[in-house]
Amino acid sequence: MHGSGLGYQAPSRDTMHSANSPSVRMPRPMIVIVLAHAISDLACHPGGASLGTDRLFLAPRGRVMSGSFRFPSPVAFRRSLHRLVLTACGFIAVSTLHAQESVFDTVATRETSVPDGFTVVGVGDVIMGRAVTVEADHELEQVLGILRGGDVTFANFEGSLIDFTTFNGFAQAEYGGAYHVAPPEVADDLRNMGIDFVNLANNHIMDWGLEGMRETHRHLERAGVVHAGTGESLGLARGPAYLETVAGRVALVGIASSCTALSRAGPPTPKVPGRPGVNALRLSRTTLVTETMLTNLREVLDALPGPEDEDSEEDEGSDESDESEGLEESEEDEEPEEGDDEDDDPDDSLRFMGQSFKAGDVPAFTYEGNEDDVAGILRSVREGKQLSDFLILTQHAHEPGNWSRQPADYLPTLVRSAIDEGADMFIGHGPHQLRGIEIYEGRPIFYSLGNFIFHDNLTPVPYAMFERYDVDPREGTEGDVNAAMGEGFNNQPNFESVITASRFEGGRVSEIRLYPIELRQENRLANRGVPRLAPPETADRILERLQELSAPFGTDIEIEDHVGVIRPEG
Ligand SMILES: [Zn+2]
Repeated sequence: MHGSGLGYQAPSRDTMHSANSPSVRMPRPMIVIVLAHAISDLACHPGGASLGTDRLFLAPRGRVMSGSFRFPSPVAFRRSLHRLVLTACGFIAVSTLHAQESVFDTVATRETSVPDGFTVVGVGDVIMGRAVTVEADHELEQVLGILRGGDVTFANFEGSLIDFTTFNGFAQAEYGGAYHVAPPEVADDLRNMGIDFVNLANNHIMDWGLEGMRETHRHLERAGVVHAGTGESLGLARGPAYLETVAGRVALVGIASSCTALSRAGPPTPKVPGRPGVNALRLSRTTLVTETMLTNLREVLDALPGPEDEDSEEDEGSDESDESEGLEESEEDEEPEEGDDEDDDPDDSLRFMGQSFKAGDVPAFTYEGNEDDVAGILRSVREGKQLSDFLILTQHAHEPGNWSRQPADYLPTLVRSAIDEGADMFIGHGPHQLRGIEIYEGRPIFYSLGNFIFHDNLTPVPYAMFERYDVDPREGTEGDVNAAMGEGFNNQPNFESVITASRFEGGRVSEIRLYPIELRQENRLANRGVPRLAPPETADRILERLQELSAPFGTDIEIEDHVGVIRPEG
């Protein structure tokens, strides 16, 4: 049923559903003791038999007798006897029920055990440069009202929270495309917005290095925002984070398939400590091309300088050829690539300029996840659900690129496997625009929720960004750099998205409401990127786009009063 390939034999989540149903649980020896106590109470407390636990039957106030015995009046005795008989019948019924099924959880079940009506509100990327709630206008307040209405409210927080008056870190040479940063009070702002659960596994959490990540952790924790996806070693980054709510304990596992190579957290050995960083899912990408394209590529490869033929390799030092910019054919590589198939025809594939190419029907990108990473992630989901009532899996996934409105091809299979392992919901983000919605086994999958807050007026701006956008820092300003960077995201879908509210009944999603938002693209750079509910025409356009994106997953979205509604079971 699940594709973890871990050789793990515990019962699947489906077979465990009945074993953890809410019921009165009292071992039979305990029942006997309670009944004996009740009979003794009947004699000593004739005004109202107490069963020893005030929660079950409370003696009328002021009538509890203690010490000396007094024979009860006939009316009181009859009433007490009546209660005793009813109680005994109740316990016999419970006892019989217990004889039929074992209820003690000996295998750490993965049942969803939140009350009916449990609601998760989810949004996508939050890229903030400053606090917004202190100056919230009526339009923003409407949006925040939805966020504050969830039992749990989730966002992908994509940046670092830093107090530069005390910061000891540096802007890193390797960064996530920009140096996202905000002052510490943004942590409190997230909480004010109603966001209590954030993912940090993404391509920006290490823009300011390990010090930036650690300081971000501190500020979020101070503000009471639970974060997942990063940590002091791989185990901590990959492991679930837990949020305690009145509706139950909720777990979050955060993954990034899109992050810088240096951000990746690592495990310890007996002699070497683990490496702090991001819970990364490494991917191998193969580019599918037509036969003709592959032949052309082979011609280019053959024409380029390099080892003349296979026989000559052993005559020359192998060091040089091994490191020569990936100009090797994949099947001949010294190290097997992820996803290499033993029975591949070598004529059908090629490694060129560090990329793998393969013949396919249509040009496309195809991905495979690193087996160890996938197994570790699924294990983390299983563990998180064993120790919680509800689990959210979230992933930062730009692949195959920000341009794509579809998820990378490997992702649906991975997410469904995670749901089989116990995940109740998947929230994707990264491409800064919406992708489709799927319902699998009564659990919602949001492949990308686009942007929620998209401040592109970030400060301070490191030198690398001035250099990248060709702005001389002696003359040009941070605003000039931000404006140049913003041009790359000046597309309507980058400024249009939805807030999702998923309501659960019986452990399955019963209704999803999609509230369209737009991020005021037409505002000045100084204050654009802040959401408001989309006006009717824009709302319908956003929802129609989402209908189109979700149709391949078999998901129907109704539009009711400019709000999207999915009712999976109806
Ligand atoms: Zn990103």
